[in-house]
Amino acid sequence: MPGPMFRVAVILATASATLLAAPGALGDRASGNAATIEIQRLRPGLHLLSGAGCNVVAWTGPDGAVLVDSGKAEAAPQLVESVARIAPRGVRFVVNTHWHPDHTGGNALLGQSGALVVSQENVRLRMAERQDLGEYALEVPAATAEALPVVTFDDSLVLNLNGERLELLHAPAAHTDGDGIAWWVEANVVHLGDVFHAEGYPFLDTGSGGSLAGLVAAVETVLSRADARTLIVPGHGPVSTRADLAAYRDMLVAVGRRVRELAEQGRSLEEVLAAEPTAAFDARYGAGGVSAERFVRLLFEDLSGRR
Ligand SMILES: [Zn+2]
Repeated sequence: MPGPMFRVAVILATASATLLAAPGALGDRASGNAATIEIQRLRPGLHLLSGAGCNVVAWTGPDGAVLVDSGKAEAAPQLVESVARIAPRGVRFVVNTHWHPDHTGGNALLGQSGALVVSQENVRLRMAERQDLGEYALEVPAATAEALPVVTFDDSLVLNLNGERLELLHAPAAHTDGDGIAWWVEANVVHLGDVFHAEGYPFLDTGSGGSLAGLVAAVETVLSRADARTLIVPGHGPVSTRADLAAYRDMLVAVGRRVRELAEQGRSLEEVLAAEPTAAFDARYGAGGVSAERFVRLLFEDLSGRR
């Protein structure tokens, strides 16, 4: 189980004009007031930092520190300050699970201090150009040089450090087209990025190449390797178990099947929404950043090719 938690109170710098236009899976707009980054020990050498916009895992040891994901740009100074408490010699590598700005926003600051950014190839391709996240009415400018991934991989990559293996596995066409799942083999800890949302419906980013089939396949891959002791870190929400991830898979499959059936019967999006295909799951997942309506609409687009 996760170890003791200690809090680092931080004050967010004045919010810049590039923040998200709407709250949701990409994180809420920083209030401009106090924010808190919590540090939670997962296993020896592995800590979860939450509060920077997404879940960040810090991996520390004699060979140096690695971060998986880097949070929102607005929280980067506080994230770096918190990381320094557990990794005083700095960060060698930053792994991005995907390109979204709430997972890559700290890259620039960490890159300026010498960290190398690692990601699946499609993450770099997207970050190198302006991206239009229409679902959130957000235009994300092309990343600066120090924020761009330096090391990229196609299917998989291994970082051998600190007497441990960190396996990075590409999950094709899942939340986006560039999702990387980070698996610490010995420690039995996995960070799924936004392939897994522990407390809400996922944001299926069809505009970035995401799909339900890929999302389910990625979750199945993790379930096939996980056991009852695996600590499963979602992109957002609390550290979870294999049983939590299996329940999430069951939800994805059940809602997807219903939306597909209705779409194949020729129903319109409005009719599919009116049928409330998520009704059995709203108690568990309906209060997250992605509404049931948005989830069903994106599923409908993905599964029917209609809008
Ligand atoms: Zn995301």
